[in-house]
Amino acid sequence: MQDFQNPTECCQKMKKYILVLTIGISIFSCKQEKKENGAVANKASTESELKLYTFDGGTVMVNNLELFSQDTTYHGQTKEFADAFYVISHPKGNLMWDAGLPEGLISLPEPYTAPNGAFTVSRKDSVVNQLKSIGMTPDDIDYIALSHTHFDHSGHANTLNNATWLVQDKEYDYVASETTHNLNPELYKAIEGLKKIEKLEGDHDVFGDGSVIIKSMPGHTPGHQVLYVNLPESGPLLLSGDLYHFYENREYKRVPSFNTSVKETLKSMDAFEAFAKEKNAKVYLQHQKEDFNKMPKAPNYLN
Ligand SMILES: [Zn+2]
Repeated sequence: MQDFQNPTECCQKMKKYILVLTIGISIFSCKQEKKENGAVANKASTESELKLYTFDGGTVMVNNLELFSQDTTYHGQTKEFADAFYVISHPKGNLMWDAGLPEGLISLPEPYTAPNGAFTVSRKDSVVNQLKSIGMTPDDIDYIALSHTHFDHSGHANTLNNATWLVQDKEYDYVASETTHNLNPELYKAIEGLKKIEKLEGDHDVFGDGSVIIKSMPGHTPGHQVLYVNLPESGPLLLSGDLYHFYENREYKRVPSFNTSVKETLKSMDAFEAFAKEKNAKVYLQHQKEDFNKMPKAPNYLN
């Protein structure tokens, strides 16, 4: 998914209203949250366990599924995608994985259809509100990593401006490039608030103990990545990013028409399957509704 104009552009008044409202809410509840956070932090350090929280970052109705292969396989088909984001709580810090759809959608009375008609998108709640359900604020997020910088994965990223952004060098260059700027300036705007940047070149062990690893899997975009989490009770799992959007594309290794490299994508798919097999990891496709529905939703979690 790439061709998207932020709906707030057509709705500036609403945007201001949301901003004022959001700031108002966060100031109002600041004191109480601090207290709650203290309690959560203490609990986490004594339990010293890993938790994976899943959140609803909105819904994408794909009106033209044909975009998701190199040929006409999906001609005339449509499909509803989930759009999840996650918080991985580790004794050494909290990582947010992906950032849902743009928050400007929350205030719109109707789901928003992109000018080219390919997608209709909606989002119900803000990250600030959603984090409250687990006793956190955006300031409690130490790291943010996006599977890639498309609009449906970077929605509320700017809210996490105290977190360190773990981004592949190549993804940063892609989203900050003049070409991307000219084609779709919204992609850069969605992440420009992230000022603490740690650029990666390949895989990255986030907390240094092998439990949470960012795996470089380019092709969908130049610096696309997936996330491996080894949970103490549920065991190892992989969050797919957009390596595969839905089951059929995994089964038949179909590459969306808008990927930046077919060759890299196919190589990443092979590397992903080999890694999943080696680790005996459960695979969750982030846009596949059935996989999203399997996950307990915050405040519940997998551990
Ligand atoms: Zn994408």
